[in-house]
Amino acid sequence: MSTRVSASWNVFYSRTRCRVPCLTRQHASEATNASVSPGAGDNKAFSKTLLLPKTSFKLRPDVKGVEEKYRKLSCDELYQWQSKYAEGPLFVLHDGPPYANGDLHMGHALNKVIKDIINRFHVSQGRKVHYVPGWDCHGLPIENKAMKDLKQDPLETPPEVVRDTAKSTALREITSQKEQFRTLGIMADWDCKERTYRTLDRHYEIRQLRIFQQMVENGLIYRQHRPVHYSPSSRSALAEAELEYKEDHVSHSVYVTFDVDGKCTSLPLALQDIISNGATVKLLVWTTTPWTLTANMGIAVHNDLTYDLVKVSTGGSEVVYVVASERREALQQYLGFEEAVIIASVTGQQLSDISYKPIFDSYKKSLKVITSSHVTSLSGTGLVHCAPAHGQEDYLAFKALDLISPSTTASNTVVCHVDSKGQFSEDVTSVIGEELAKELVGKEVLTDGNKAIVQLLNASGKIMKIQRIKHKYPYDWRTKKPIIVTATSQWFANLDKIKDDALSALQEVSFFPTLSRNRLEAFVSSRSEWCISRQRVWGVPIPALHHKHSDRVVLDSKSLQFIINAIEKKNLDWWTSPIEEFVPPWLLEDGKAASETWEKGRDTMDVWFDSGTSWSMLSEMGVGRNPDVGRKFDADLCLEGSDQHRGWFQSQLLTAIASAKPTEKLSSPYGSLLTHGMVLDEKGRKMSKSLGNIVSPMTLIQSGPDMLRLWAATVEYWRDMSIGKTVISQVTESLRKLRNTARFCLGNMGDLETLEIMERVPKSEMGLAERYIMNELYTLEQTALEGYTTYNFPKVINALNNFANITMSSLYFDITKDSLYANGSQNHERRAIVTVLEQVLDTMTRTMAPVLPYLAEEIHAARRCNSESVFRKVWTPLSKDWKDPDASKDMASLLRIRGTVLALLEKAREAKQLKSSLEAEVDIIVPNGFEGPVVELLHREEHFLKTLFIVSDASIADEGSLGTSSSNWVYSESISIPGSDDDIAIRVRPAACHKCPRCWTFSRLPDDRLCNRCEKVVETDHPHL
Ligand SMILES: [Zn+2]
Repeated sequence: MSTRVSASWNVFYSRTRCRVPCLTRQHASEATNASVSPGAGDNKAFSKTLLLPKTSFKLRPDVKGVEEKYRKLSCDELYQWQSKYAEGPLFVLHDGPPYANGDLHMGHALNKVIKDIINRFHVSQGRKVHYVPGWDCHGLPIENKAMKDLKQDPLETPPEVVRDTAKSTALREITSQKEQFRTLGIMADWDCKERTYRTLDRHYEIRQLRIFQQMVENGLIYRQHRPVHYSPSSRSALAEAELEYKEDHVSHSVYVTFDVDGKCTSLPLALQDIISNGATVKLLVWTTTPWTLTANMGIAVHNDLTYDLVKVSTGGSEVVYVVASERREALQQYLGFEEAVIIASVTGQQLSDISYKPIFDSYKKSLKVITSSHVTSLSGTGLVHCAPAHGQEDYLAFKALDLISPSTTASNTVVCHVDSKGQFSEDVTSVIGEELAKELVGKEVLTDGNKAIVQLLNASGKIMKIQRIKHKYPYDWRTKKPIIVTATSQWFANLDKIKDDALSALQEVSFFPTLSRNRLEAFVSSRSEWCISRQRVWGVPIPALHHKHSDRVVLDSKSLQFIINAIEKKNLDWWTSPIEEFVPPWLLEDGKAASETWEKGRDTMDVWFDSGTSWSMLSEMGVGRNPDVGRKFDADLCLEGSDQHRGWFQSQLLTAIASAKPTEKLSSPYGSLLTHGMVLDEKGRKMSKSLGNIVSPMTLIQSGPDMLRLWAATVEYWRDMSIGKTVISQVTESLRKLRNTARFCLGNMGDLETLEIMERVPKSEMGLAERYIMNELYTLEQTALEGYTTYNFPKVINALNNFANITMSSLYFDITKDSLYANGSQNHERRAIVTVLEQVLDTMTRTMAPVLPYLAEEIHAARRCNSESVFRKVWTPLSKDWKDPDASKDMASLLRIRGTVLALLEKAREAKQLKSSLEAEVDIIVPNGFEGPVVELLHREEHFLKTLFIVSDASIADEGSLGTSSSNWVYSESISIPGSDDDIAIRVRPAACHKCPRCWTFSRLPDDRLCNRCEKVVETDHPHL
């Protein structure tokens, strides 16, 4: 072993100043042979006297063993310990719950690791960390997973079976995800039910219902039958936040005509004339959703637009089309009117209230033209087909004119022929007649149904043109399928009333990255309501009571109070307990049982409402906002992917503001928001099964959690980031180097007993290299503290890697090996180095610990020999006294010279003049009589130069004092002296002395067995040799 280790050292230092001014060819050859001459026979004996590194700290970690040893210690037990004993101020990181519906992907892993880095950093600062991991358990993703497991269609499965299956699916997935999170080394009290949460927990649901009740009491919840975004693929209403807009959706749009009713009495004169002359007047309309034409309830024009009456003669008959003047030219060309003539123009105002015939002949009732400000002349014809069931603007226009009622039983309720599957329902018969209905009923409006209706209208000559267009269209963000707008009865939360409060509460929130504030503010300010009901069976109920014989629906603070109390106190379940339990006495009708009059509402709450109310558990746990102890917010920090600006970040804010009691001060539930990007593959593509580019965290974890964690801390997580083979191998290499750096320190610091009694060297007695390293270490620590505080982990890791690889590995370790291995254990210089190595190791361990807890625990155990976690000791930064800009400046000057020396040595090596740099000596030649800081520095540090250059000797000479060199080889180079016109010459030549068989420096005098230094060490420590 000694041979291998010796060969790897760069051994060089010797106290002996062996000055043989010129070296003849003969000397040189003796020098070369010295490795086998005097003392050669004792090589082995001498090598045993070296203080070679010794440590039980393994070169490669035993991943499984390390995990077994430290997981509990550094995760569950550490969490418990710090919750009990940490004395610093409380830090609450509120966990956004992932869906409990499958294995973890890289996004989950990144999310939890970043949270854990922050938590561990706070623990290391002595703060008490509150971190309670949660799971989102309701809603479509879980239902889908459950039904997939059951291999059943949810619509064909009884609700109670869906609920039972979904519940056990969620619980099973939680157990599995929990185990996976644990393998990432996430500090939490995973097995404690009170220190984790699930949105299906009974007390969670009850607390959520109480928040809902308060929102009802605040007058923010209402029910309406009206158009909403509806996803046929999810069979549920969706909130704006659940939509994704696809830019290139293809629709078949049509130009259709509606005949003006000639019998109408309110026609403007121009139209009366035309009709009385026997021509037909047609209103020309363009629509991208032909399937909504059966639900047409009117045609809208704009008051201020002018409309041309365009006469077209076809096949002997005359038809007059009504189109907006501004659109006429484009349409004339496009629709190919031959010899069209404008016979008159009218205003939108004049068209208002005229009647037209429905597009389907079988529907006898005539309809009206209305005026509305949402009509424009930017596209289409300037006349808009209105189907209030399928368009928000149409609905609002009709509502403003009092033409429709939000009640489903009123005679003027919105006309809607689409069922919950997104198909034409039987109701369409009332408009198109039984014969035609056969073509439509049961067909999906987005596909076959749309085609069928276009065919029907084409056959009846109502279509002038069919046009295929690509346009922006909303999709369901979960199923990735297009949605429709259709009328259903839903519960809404009024956001207009609380929007301003929510936005002003956000003023107090800090955002990282800063610009993400705009995103959340934009989402909040663009919403005026939140559709909170969903047509799912697996979820928290909206406990409304529906009257069986009218459209009365009761949901007020009093009824909710009664129902929630019943659920809570009698341990009832809304879905399975009888209605009698939930109907309050004041709603009972004389002599009738509750079940005769009332039934339970079947809507569930939007899952964003579930997770959105999670902030409220913090108060219950005693860590919520409390101005008395200076806690302004419930959570100090929430940290999720950037898609949560429209999801959880928003739903938490809205439920918190909306459920505040009138007397309460309005405040955001969180003080800071941190967002991360998406994890992409190596080529920057989204990971997907179809591309086969999914990187699973559970595969990566085979190399130990530290590797995955180091990756998470290395990437700029606030943008989208990549993971792939190249990145992983880079991270693996960094981790290996950090480990090696620690191992070098441990190996050279000696065993615990030696270290315990070793006298440390104070700064005042340290050499330049030691002071320089301590200054660098101080800088590293300050950078790390700042990086952790500002969530800039790549900054921490970069600084740490640079320190380990450049400052330590490539410089300090190289230049200290001679002293560490060959000097005596009590040697002052050696003790100074060990003093530094000890500090370096401790500070590096503190610095890496939040990111690499297992490596830090391993080092800590090797250092301390006790079984306490490294995190138990508060991270006390190095004293400011170690800050040493002078040492840094001096070292920079010397390192510049070192660069030149190393280049010259390399030249000599390439020319096969030497193998080891120890075979050389260096002369630094300064200009005659030149004085200045650099020269002064060189003189001051002259004794240190050979150490720094890793040569057998280095000395400074004046130009004049230098004799003619007769070495058999010499390499020289000049470098400029900063701030002057003079140069320093650097000369590398063969070492004059002989190789010392113990330390391998060329500093042994020809007749000695060892160099001076080694002789002394051996005499003192190994007198028998
Ligand atoms: Zn020696």
